[in-house]
Formats: sequence, C-alpha cells, structure tokens
Amino acid sequence: MDLKQFMVGLRQRNPGQREFHQAVEEVIATVLPVVNDTAAYREHRIIERLTEPDRVISFRVCWEDDQQRIQLNRGYRVQFNNSIGPYKGGLRFHPSVTLSILKFLGFEQIFKNSLTGLPMGGAKGGADFDPHGKSDREVMRFCYAFMTELHKHIGPNTDVPAGDIGVGGREVAFLFGRYKQLQNEFTGVLTGKGLSFGGSLIRTEATGYGAVYFCQNMLHHHGDSLEGKVCAVSGAGNVAQYTIEKLLHMGAKPVTVSDSGGFIYDKDGISIEKLAFIKELKQVRRGRISAYAEKYAGAEYYAGKRPWGVKCDVAFPSATQNELELANAKALVENGCGAVCEGANMPTSNDAVDYLQRAGVYFAPGKAANAGGVSVSGLEMSQNSMRYSWSREEVDNKLKGIMASIHQQCVDHGSRDGKVNYVAGANIAGFIKVADAMVAYGIG
Ligand code: GLU
Repeated sequence: MDLKQFMVGLRQRNPGQREFHQAVEEVIATVLPVVNDTAAYREHRIIERLTEPDRVISFRVCWEDDQQRIQLNRGYRVQFNNSIGPYKGGLRFHPSVTLSILKFLGFEQIFKNSLTGLPMGGAKGGADFDPHGKSDREVMRFCYAFMTELHKHIGPNTDVPAGDIGVGGREVAFLFGRYKQLQNEFTGVLTGKGLSFGGSLIRTEATGYGAVYFCQNMLHHHGDSLEGKVCAVSGAGNVAQYTIEKLLHMGAKPVTVSDSGGFIYDKDGISIEKLAFIKELKQVRRGRISAYAEKYAGAEYYAGKRPWGVKCDVAFPSATQNELELANAKALVENGCGAVCEGANMPTSNDAVDYLQRAGVYFAPGKAANAGGVSVSGLEMSQNSMRYSWSREEVDNKLKGIMASIHQQCVDHGSRDGKVNYVAGANIAGFIKVADAMVAYGIG
C-alpha cells in the first residue's frame, strides 16, 4: 500500500476534516512499513478499518441561560475503536469543536490508550459550548442537557468519558451527577471524578506529571536529565500547571506560561508560590494569564504571541492542537532547544515535527508523553470496579511505571541506527496491539 494513494481516498471519504487528515497521515506514514510486512494486516484491511470510527453520535443540546433565553449547541461522541477495551477518552467543550477535531482526538486516543497497557479503547466527544463567561448554573444546565442524550450511549463497560479542554472537575461532577440520576446507578462511568465520589488521587496532576516523567525518561536514555533545564511551557490549564509543578520537583526552571490572549515570560522562573497564583487565577477566578505580569514585576507579557521564541532547553507545548508550527520549530532550534515534549494533543504540526527530528531535537509525541492522564483514568476505573482506592503514593508509582513502560515501547519499536524516533515507536507499538486484536476477531 502507498501512503499518498491511501490519503487521497481518506480525504475523499472525509472532506474538509483537516485535523483528522493530519492525525491519520502521521500515524499511517509510520505504521505502513509494518503493515506492508505483515500479510494478516493487509488481508484484514486493518488500516482502512482503523481509520473509520465504529460510530459517530451527533446530537442537539438545548439549555436555558440565566436570562431564560434558549441556547443551542451541538454535542458529539466519536466511538472510534473498542478492540482492546471499552471506549475511553475525554470530552472537550470549546467553541472550536468540530467533527474533524473530535475525530483526530478519538483516533489518537486509540494508540495512546493502547500504549498505557490498560484495557481501554479510543473515543472522544464534546460540544461547541464555551464555558468562559458562563455562570456555574449555566454550566450545570448545559452539562445536564448534554448528559440527557449522552447517557444512552455510554456505560462503565461500554464507553467511559472524562475531561479535556473546558471540561474539568466541575463539569465532570455535573455530568456524573446527572448520569447517576438518569440511570439510577453509581458506577465508574466517567473518570476525573471528585475524591469523595469515586475519583482517583493524582488524576488531576496525572497528565502534567506524566509528561515530565516521560521527558525525564527520554533525557536519561540519552545520558542527560531535567535538572537545571530552562523549560518553555505553553498553556495555563490543568496540563501546564502540573507540568510546571513536576518540573520544579525535578529541579528544572519553567519560564513561560500562556493562554489564548498571549504568553508570560518570567526570566526568574515560575516558583511554587507563583504557580499557586496561576492555579488560583485559572481554577477559581477563571481569569486571564496577563494578570501574572500585573502581579509579578519581573515578568513580561506578550499579547497575541506564543512562547516559542524564548531561549529554552526543553519545550512543553501543553495548550492545544497546532500551536507549534514550522516557524516556531525553527526559532526553538535556533535558540538551542534540545527536546520537545507534547503535553497537549497534536500541538506540533507535521512539518514542524519533521524539522525538529531532522535537527536532532528529541521529540516526544503526545500519544506517548501525555498518556499519563488517561493512564490514571484507567486506574480510576480499576479502583471503581474494586470499590476501593489506592493511596497517593501507590497511584503515583503506578503512573511512573506506566510512563517508563511507554518510553521503553517507543525505544523498542522506534530505534534505528542507534537513534530513537519516538513518533514511529509510539505509533507502531500502539498500533500492533490493536491490529492483532482486530485480526483475532475476524471481520467486523
Ligand atoms: N483528555 C485526556 C486525553 O487527551 C484524558 C482522557 C481520559 O482520561 O479519558 O488523553
């Protein structure tokens, strides 16, 4: 099979879905040699089947705002593949949500979840709802309306949603409360729940902590470490906050943080105290990151800009898709950046990934590097099934073990001529497990 020819067909079948095309192209380019070498994968048409979601559910979400006006949004759940476990993946509430975005996210989730070693299939969902500027009650009414339809399609052994951009602890609680009421059952149907109603310790921290653990594994593998490294982090949400926290534990120096308005450069470094300010600003006040520069005199705010022009050793793009493009990659390399570790999903465009890899930058793709979040979601499911909860230390140790194992799978499947291609390694390792299960099931 030929990549170009396959992509022509995929684009025809899915017109206009740019992000989905991008995510598929990156995976297929790297797994194609394995497919071409394995007769069973070709006979069973695994690639064609894997790129077609099992099911796409699209629904109207109708709710009432604080002024008693009727509001409409579009909700989705893309159930992509359940070959190795129940569908699993987050929900995103953001005005930019389209079917293309959720298909790219659901597709990537298949491989990411496979890499964790836990029994989870791939899915994603969400709505074009913007939680910014909405009151708690408006968010609650929206979540209730969303779950009124979604509950028909999910379940603890069928499909287990969680958070993503715009969906955090508050939203998961509203969604879970509504599901419990509609189904009259208390099960682990969502992850990222509050600690008093079935949530797991470390779930909040898991994506950021996991990204830093992965990066540390990657640097150790190359005889280096995070200690003393200047790090540029983008985003200011859950992933960025706990990436910064773990970087500080590791003795690194995070110097940037950003949101859709611009970025902060704090050359003195973001300390634990400054991080506490960011957490309060974003989690409680739901304010803009520009407030950081008003509070801390040494920090600079760059409106409408991304942090990739700053001198750094390691970059952690942790905001959203396609936030690190070719020009940004060139700026990073010029400034001596040696590693890029994706905290967000597909934050780096494909041409930027190629450029970074060719320049010898260690590049950790999101499927591997940000898998810590869904890993602890998987551990939350296990604890819910056991009706038991593990200690903070137990969960953190399991998370460290999973991130080390993902790193090892990348090395095992992505090494060539003494160099590790983490993109190829993650895609191939994730793919083989799912493809073998599909072959075993026969035609379906
Ligand atoms: N949205 C997160 C991700 O991109 C977490 C998904 C989950 O916990 O199910 O992996």
